[in-house]
Amino acid sequence: MEMIEAKNLAYEYIRRDEEGNVEGITRAVDGVTLDVKAGDFVAILGHNGSGKSTIAKQINAILEPTEGTLYVNGMNTAEPEHLWDIRQSAGMVFQNPDNQIIASVVEEDVAFGPENLGIPTEEIWKRVEESLSAVGMTEYRSHSPNKLSGGQKQRVAIAGIMAMRPRCIVLDEPTAMLDPDGRKEVLRTLHELNRAEHVTILLITHYMDEVIHADKVIVMDDGKIVMQGTPREVFSHVEELKAHRLDVPQVTELAYELQKEGMPLPDGILTIKEFTEAIEALKA
Ligand code: ADP
Ligand code: MG
Repeated sequence: MEMIEAKNLAYEYIRRDEEGNVEGITRAVDGVTLDVKAGDFVAILGHNGSGKSTIAKQINAILEPTEGTLYVNGMNTAEPEHLWDIRQSAGMVFQNPDNQIIASVVEEDVAFGPENLGIPTEEIWKRVEESLSAVGMTEYRSHSPNKLSGGQKQRVAIAGIMAMRPRCIVLDEPTAMLDPDGRKEVLRTLHELNRAEHVTILLITHYMDEVIHADKVIVMDDGKIVMQGTPREVFSHVEELKAHRLDVPQVTELAYELQKEGMPLPDGILTIKEFTEAIEALKA
């Protein structure tokens, strides 16, 4: 089943002057056709301004397509009657965890979403427990979110979304404000939710090293999908990625440079482990 299905999707921001005359149009999403299957972990990569956040807002039915169609969990995002079902199916996590945490106690924050959905109290507490456990934050349940690290806060925000039982979570650069440990925590949590709870994950990022374990990587530039495939397929095209102003993971770049110098290494090396294994294999 398709969780997200976009056909020739476009979005134009229209700037107007005080009199309402059109001053300029930015075509932020420009003819995107995209399928994300239920249970997949898909990463969207792209330089600043490539249209990633605009697509995220379209998936959440905050922005309606200017052209084309977008279905989320089988619902057309252009039909207003589906708005709440769409937002419940595809939960959103944003960059800054401080803007997403509202309550002064972790467990109350996680309970906030299901409370708003009118879920019975007993069921809410069951969900809070399960969600905190799923993101590994159970021991902090009665803490104040203010005292948590960025990575822990972001995990609480993810638990709050999980408590609404979404089929899919869309994360728009969720690690951009985190330190390396926080980034790893969040990534580990997302893979665990994907594996154990079968939640579809759409991770938007500009960190290449965060996408190496995704099922599929989509590269965007200037509102268009310019590359897509498995991480290995995408990272086999180092020059092309650079042309789209993306930095490849250091070890991929090193392997690529050695390959150019004539060392017979395989394409698309993604991890230090793969790199050392490939070097060992050469020695054998
Ligand atoms: P990304 O998330 O990949 O950085 P965005 O979707 O935020 O890209 O932006 C895509 C393009 O749309 C950029 O050129 C950006 O300047 C423009 N844009 C984004 N938001 C607005 C807005 N609210 N009004 C006008 N233009 C916008
Ligand atoms: Mg963005």
